[in-house]
Amino acid sequence: MSGGASEVGAPGRQAASRYDCCILGGGPAGLTAAIFLARLRRRAVVLDDRRSRAALIPRSHNHPAFPDGIGGPALLERMRDQLADLGESPVDAKVTAIAQEGDGSFTIAAGERRWNTRFLLMATGVEDVLPEMPGSLDRVREGVLRCCPICDAFEVIGRELAVVGPGACAAGEALFLRAYSQRITLVTLGGPPEITEEQLTRVRAAGITVLEDEVLELSGDAAACRSTWRTVSSVSMLPMPGSESGPGPGLPPRSASRSMAMAGSSRTPASAVRCREAMLPGTQ
Ligand SMILES: Cc1cc2nc3c(=O)[nH]c(=O)nc-3n(C[C@H](O)[C@H](O)[C@H](O)COP(=O)(O)OP(=O)(O)OC[C@H]3O[C@@H](n4cnc5c(N)ncnc54)[C@H](O)[C@@H]3O)c2cc1C
Repeated sequence: MSGGASEVGAPGRQAASRYDCCILGGGPAGLTAAIFLARLRRRAVVLDDRRSRAALIPRSHNHPAFPDGIGGPALLERMRDQLADLGESPVDAKVTAIAQEGDGSFTIAAGERRWNTRFLLMATGVEDVLPEMPGSLDRVREGVLRCCPICDAFEVIGRELAVVGPGACAAGEALFLRAYSQRITLVTLGGPPEITEEQLTRVRAAGITVLEDEVLELSGDAAACRSTWRTVSSVSMLPMPGSESGPGPGLPPRSASRSMAMAGSSRTPASAVRCREAMLPGTQ
C-alpha cells in the first residue's frame, strides 16, 4: 500500500515513509488485514517478497463461497485486486531488519528502503518442510503430493492413502485420516518409525500399514487422483486387527503403487527446526 504516507528523515540512510501500520507478508492473512485497514481509512503498507504458501495450492475445495474450488494464485490475485480497488498495492520487498524507536514506533528495513510505523503486523506465514524425496516441491505444485489433511482429505474419501514421515507428526496425521479411509500406509522414508511404543500400538490398532522404505520416485496425475511411487524393496506390514497377517487392505506392492498421493508436511516458522514429517502417497 502506498498512499498517504509522510516522509521522516533518518540520518545516514534513506528517509522512512511513516504509516499507521506496516504489514509484513502479502499472503491471505496480510492481504485480509490490508483490505480491512484500507476500509478503515488507516495508512498501511504491505511488504511482501511473494513466497506465499497459498501460491502452491493447485485448487482448494475447502474455502467457503467457492464450492467448485479456487486455485491459490487466483485467490491471491482476487485479494490483490480488491486491495487495488481501494487504491493500494503491496510493495515487493524482503524485510531484513526491524528496530523499535524511542517513541515506540518501528522502523522496517528492506535493503536501503525504510518504513516507519506505529503498529507492526506480522503475517509472514510458515514454510513447509517437505519430505526428502526427489521432486517434492514440483509434486506439491501439481497436486500429486498434498500438504494438509484438513484441506484435502474430504476429496479422497475411501481412497488408498499414504502418509510420509518417520515421527509422531506423520503418525498423528495417519490416525486422523482413518476418519476418511481404511486404507492407509505410513511411509517412514527408510528405517523404523520414530514414535513411542504407545503411538505404534495406536497406529497398529488402527490398521495402518507401515512401509519402512525410502521413496525413490513419486509421480502422478492429480486430476485422476492417482499417483505412482517407487520405493526400495523392504517393507514392514501391520495387519488390520482381526485380519490375517499379510498385506493389509491397500498395502502397495513392494516396489510400486498406484496411489492418490497426499502430502501433509510439517509447517514451521522460517527459523524452526528441520523435520522430515510429511504425508504422502496412497492409492486408487
Ligand atoms: C499445497 C498447499 C495446499 C493448501 N491448501 C489449502 C486449502 O485448501 N485451504 C486452506 O485454507 N489452506 C490451504 N493451505 C494453507 C494456506 O496456503 C495457508 O494457510 C495460507 O497461505 C496462510 O496464509 P498467510 O498469509 O498466513 O501466509 P503465507 O500465505 O505463507 O504468506 C506469507 C507471506 O509473507 C511473506 N514474507 C515472509 N517473510 C517475509 C519477509 N522477511 N519480507 C517480506 N515478506 C515476507 C512471504 O513471502 C509470503 O508471501 C495450503 C497450503 C499448501 C502449501
